[in-house]
Amino acid sequence: MATSPPLRIDVLTLFPEMFPGVLGSSILKRAAEPVVNPADPNDIRQPVVSYHVTDIRDYAGNKHQKVDQPSFGGGPGMVIQCQPVWDAVQAVEAQDDRPATRILLTPQGEPLTQPIVEELAGQPRLLMIAGHYEGIDERVIEKLAPIREISVGDYVLSGGELPAMVLIDAVVRLLPGALGHQDSAHHDSFSPGAQRLLDHPHYTRPRTWEGMEAPEVLLSGNHAKIEAWREAEARKRTEERRPDLLGDAPQ
Ligand code: SAM
Repeated sequence: MATSPPLRIDVLTLFPEMFPGVLGSSILKRAAEPVVNPADPNDIRQPVVSYHVTDIRDYAGNKHQKVDQPSFGGGPGMVIQCQPVWDAVQAVEAQDDRPATRILLTPQGEPLTQPIVEELAGQPRLLMIAGHYEGIDERVIEKLAPIREISVGDYVLSGGELPAMVLIDAVVRLLPGALGHQDSAHHDSFSPGAQRLLDHPHYTRPRTWEGMEAPEVLLSGNHAKIEAWREAEARKRTEERRPDLLGDAPQ
């Protein structure tokens, strides 16, 4: 049974309709539902997360729900105005006593990594702001300080909605009880159990497929040998594909 209250995740967006499919599927869906122990109906594990998606247009303050204007200085594209974003943040933050870690999804932010995800998974509440068009008026970003600016990579997407979903997925799968097997996230690529290296390759049935054999050692039942093989494969794979990760890893 979970002891701490669910992590609250708020998302502020101009496109709330993009979220139900992702938040309503697979692990993200299960993590937001209570789990009843089949052996004891009184043993109910509370959800580990709750999602709250807010339309910034609800705070437009005009009957056309317009929240964007042309960029000062000219040029193509629209800019999201300060006031609706500020009002939306104030209203949403007032819905819960717990302080929110404010996050702006932007290609100009710190690149998202597993240690950042781990840090965010330890917070009680996250508030994510998804930009669109040319972005958000810089003044409201300054006024929202402290705010963490996070990028999902060195490329530009049309909006912060997909980056917010990426961040939500990465965070939620680390919450205790979110995955079926408690330990599995710990051993994934970039994670502490994998010494922050890439994961080793995986195989399953059938033993022979298209003339290709699964590695014999994995069927040996010898756990020490399997572990040694996996560690060696993970290191080899990291050397080949991501030598930059080996800098900090114990040899
Ligand atoms: N004019 C901005 C720039 O060049 O830095 C790009 C704006 S982009 C078209 C619109 C929105 O998409 C951004 O405000 C941000 O919320 C989101 N976005 C785009 N790429 C992103 C990325 N790599 N990581 C996080 N958010 C991103």
